[in-house]
Amino acid sequence: MSVHRSAVCRGPYGGEGPQAGGTDCSDPAVFEVARHNRPPLLVCPVHLGPALLLASKVLWPPVIHLIARAPDPRPL
Ligand SMILES: [Zn+2]
Repeated sequence: MSVHRSAVCRGPYGGEGPQAGGTDCSDPAVFEVARHNRPPLLVCPVHLGPALLLASKVLWPPVIHLIARAPDPRPL
């Protein structure tokens, strides 16, 4: 499975283009969430759930693709 090392989480709200830099997460993206008339939203595991509910134009029921290997869990 290919790993998109440059892909960064855009969650949980799904910022667009230059505005995407304003998202508050910089973890590697692991999932891709399909949206209506928009590029897929890349999210990390933590923001997958919130993004499905909070990001705009998310398909329902959700269409999610795994795009990278999930990182090791962080110690809490
Ligand atoms: Zn995230």
